[in-house]
Amino acid sequence: MDIRSQVSMVFHLDKCIGCHTCSVACKNIWTDRKGAEYMWWNNVETKPGTGYPTKWEDQTIYKGGWEKHGDGIALRGAGKRKGLLNIFHNPNLPVIDDYYEPFTYKYLDLIESPAGDDQPTARPVSLITGKPIDIKMGPNWDDDLSGSPDYARNDPNLKDLSPGEREAMFQLERMAFFYLPRICNHCLNPACVAACPSGAIYKRGEDGVVLINQNVCRAWRMCVTACPYKKTYYNWHTGKAEKCILCYPRIEAGLAPACMHSCVGRIRYLGVILYDADRIQQAASAEAQHVIQSQMDILMDPFDPAVIASAKANGIADSTIHAAQQSPTYKFVKQWGLALPLHAEFRTLPMLFYVPPLLPVMASVKAVQQGEQAAKLGPVAKVWDDNWLYDTSTAELWGTIEQARFPLKYLANLLGAGDEHAVKDRLKKLMAVRIYRRWKTVGDVTEQKAQEVLRDVGYTPAIADAVYYLTSLAKFDDRFVIPAAHREQAIEMLEFTGDKKGSTGFGFKEGTMARGL
Ligand code: SF4
Ligand code: SF4
Repeated sequence: MDIRSQVSMVFHLDKCIGCHTCSVACKNIWTDRKGAEYMWWNNVETKPGTGYPTKWEDQTIYKGGWEKHGDGIALRGAGKRKGLLNIFHNPNLPVIDDYYEPFTYKYLDLIESPAGDDQPTARPVSLITGKPIDIKMGPNWDDDLSGSPDYARNDPNLKDLSPGEREAMFQLERMAFFYLPRICNHCLNPACVAACPSGAIYKRGEDGVVLINQNVCRAWRMCVTACPYKKTYYNWHTGKAEKCILCYPRIEAGLAPACMHSCVGRIRYLGVILYDADRIQQAASAEAQHVIQSQMDILMDPFDPAVIASAKANGIADSTIHAAQQSPTYKFVKQWGLALPLHAEFRTLPMLFYVPPLLPVMASVKAVQQGEQAAKLGPVAKVWDDNWLYDTSTAELWGTIEQARFPLKYLANLLGAGDEHAVKDRLKKLMAVRIYRRWKTVGDVTEQKAQEVLRDVGYTPAIADAVYYLTSLAKFDDRFVIPAAHREQAIEMLEFTGDKKGSTGFGFKEGTMARGL
């Protein structure tokens, strides 16, 4: 056992309202520079949708991530041989149109236009060429366009769904969508690190944050190909690659990353998880159907004396172990089994986990006889003149999950590495907590039923209350349990990070601390 510590994240998708405050907070801090116009280290996508860059999930186009190779794994589109062959022309990179051509507006036209009959407008101009453009794409362009032929219908996660199932998703009255905020996953087995021919990308020993040394980067852009989440970007102005740095200067000061601190929906959680580095290779090369479970298996119990002893032997500070014991992410991911990694089949062992969205499966519109509707709504309720009912009830408590209008298969392709059971298990737990709270607060569910559904998913009332607390009521310090930084150990921390903003914020000096601390 070789215990290391990793700062990990959980995003609760049921709570994301798609306001993009996170993206703007990140943009204003880190990527408001020349060459970084098109970069969104944090972006929010609408699902179903094609995302940013377009169809990033489709590895037949981008050849990102790892694939199984005998007993082990190999990079799909990068690595020594493939990298050498593509060194002067890499065919698997997204081009600017896959992101979008960055633009601004000629605001001066609003002020300087001569008086006339028409209202002056600010024309959009390209930030690359300076010439007027017609805007065809933008950050989060697919916002809310669920069901659109250009976006939702081209979502790679719709594979394996029958034409009938797809069409059912896009019928206007059954349409459902949710938001998917994405940052770098700071993976345990990062393909970007493995692919870099210059060795410029490294995973920080003390907290697992994945960073790019700007002095060493030689712009081969293999990291852009290799990251299956397309979370490294090429800066055309500096000729270097850049990526989300998990706001490490803020974390070191005990602050939450900007996207998390500013999150309006309070969907984000951050905490330490201890993991067994000896089993990374084994977890990443597991058979496809076991890949999620093997990732979960290497996340270790921070209260286990053997784990603590190995962590201490590796130089992990007591304060970090204590933070791991309080970690909200450990609770969501491992203790309560509520969160899943995004596309675990890419085998990078992402350390950002998502609580799947329950809301889209709650209700459907169905045709009913007026009498049935009137009976359901009661004598005082208004009865509409048509035969449609927005039905939020079901005789069987689990019925809404199994006959979801948002097919489980879709969520399984996104969050379950294709395994519907993994997603269903999480959704049932979420539903159980909801039914339990319904009994407590509204009272139209019997206590017996509430206890029964909790038992069904292996929860106790104490766990349900804890899930409810952390989901709905948690304060800042509950959502972000940030380990104390050990300035005496990390040379990077001695630099004043404000100085570095203009040069991308990657404060870095030679001779960093040894790995494993
Ligand atoms: S998400 Fe991509 S860029 Fe981030 S650590 Fe994983 S492979 Fe690297
Ligand atoms: S700020 Fe929070 S709620 Fe708003 S889009 Fe970002 S993740 Fe979602």
